[in-house]
Amino acid sequence: MYNNYQEFLAGELAAIKEAGLYKGERIIVSPQGAEITLNTGQKVLNFCANNYLGLSANSKLIEAARKALDTHGYGMSSVRFICGTSDLHKELEHKLAEFFGTEDTILYAACFDANGGVFEPLLSEEDAIISDALNHASIIDGVRLCKAQRYRYANADMKDLEEKLTEAQAQRFRLVVTDGVFSMDGNVAPLDKIYELANKYNAMVMVDESHSAGVVGDTGRGVTELYNLKGKIEIITGTLGKAFGGAIGGFTTGKKEIIEMLRQRSRPYLFSNSIPPLVAAAGIKMVEMMTETNELQDKLHFNTKYFMEKMSKAGFDIKPTQSAICAVMLYDAKLSQEMAAKLLDEGIYVTGFYYPVVPKDQARIRVQLSAAHEQEHLDKAIAAFTKVGRELGVLK
Ligand SMILES: *Cc1c(COP(=O)(O)O)cnc(C)c1O
Repeated sequence: MYNNYQEFLAGELAAIKEAGLYKGERIIVSPQGAEITLNTGQKVLNFCANNYLGLSANSKLIEAARKALDTHGYGMSSVRFICGTSDLHKELEHKLAEFFGTEDTILYAACFDANGGVFEPLLSEEDAIISDALNHASIIDGVRLCKAQRYRYANADMKDLEEKLTEAQAQRFRLVVTDGVFSMDGNVAPLDKIYELANKYNAMVMVDESHSAGVVGDTGRGVTELYNLKGKIEIITGTLGKAFGGAIGGFTTGKKEIIEMLRQRSRPYLFSNSIPPLVAAAGIKMVEMMTETNELQDKLHFNTKYFMEKMSKAGFDIKPTQSAICAVMLYDAKLSQEMAAKLLDEGIYVTGFYYPVVPKDQARIRVQLSAAHEQEHLDKAIAAFTKVGRELGVLK
């Protein structure tokens, strides 16, 4: 049997390669950080990690994780409700609720699981989910697993959202769901307007803060801080895998009855292992650090502003944003790949994105800023962009 299937797969894989869509992996042999070493020996400056606060190799988090290895061992060998709950899990759940100004939190192995397990236990055929067209794949998958009626509105388009909310008045309960920051443009969801419309049309709101937690808002509490909506949004999901240390883990935080129901019925929670205690311990340390001082958030905001301003001044076409994602627009797919390759030769690691990851003729290089970047790193990146930009005719 495998002979036929093997041939079939070989054909499919060849087609992916031919279309230029084959995903390779670059191998890193150093810790994650501003400066990394590849297995080729090349040292590069990393501008494509979700390491927004530079915590991926932070010594205090490493120390907290190490200590937990000694006190709590390596793994839990159980789901949470059988014998997989440690005091560290509970403490992190409380700390995250404090951080976001919510009532309670439930941890998952990843935000992919948090989103996969949030809709189905809460809503049924009688209800409606109204989802932004550019929401993350895990939200799309989670909605698929739920029997609620589905509505989709164009990215951050409030007129379209209002239309869909009007249509959804036939249903019993309504939930509007949006990413806090959309990963390709770096644009922030207009949560103030979404919240207003949700109130007007009697809907609840869910926001995925994966790219915004630690980043957006003066103290990094996310888009609910930016729009003064702390404690007002029913459901927030997020990841420990980006700004929050970058290891693994996700969470849903919000109204306490919602979290309580998820502990009863959310399938990725009930049927998947709990995160290692050492990850919870580092997470606790992370929240403590972000509460004691705003140093990392301030540095990230400074770096982002600095980079965007200098790049605009150099003549690049930059999408406006309040996140730490800077989309350098090139529009041409081939150019985006050429430019990323030449930048790597200059020691700057960035990724070029093109259709179907972004709309046709919207190819770009996505730069992600970090508190781990020093000004010399930023200056080096800007100089490399300018040099390569001139070579490729992007800059006049
Ligand atoms: C990265 C991301 C996720 C997935 O998070 P993991 O913890 O890595 O599974 C979910 N939603 C959004 C919006 C993301 O950007």
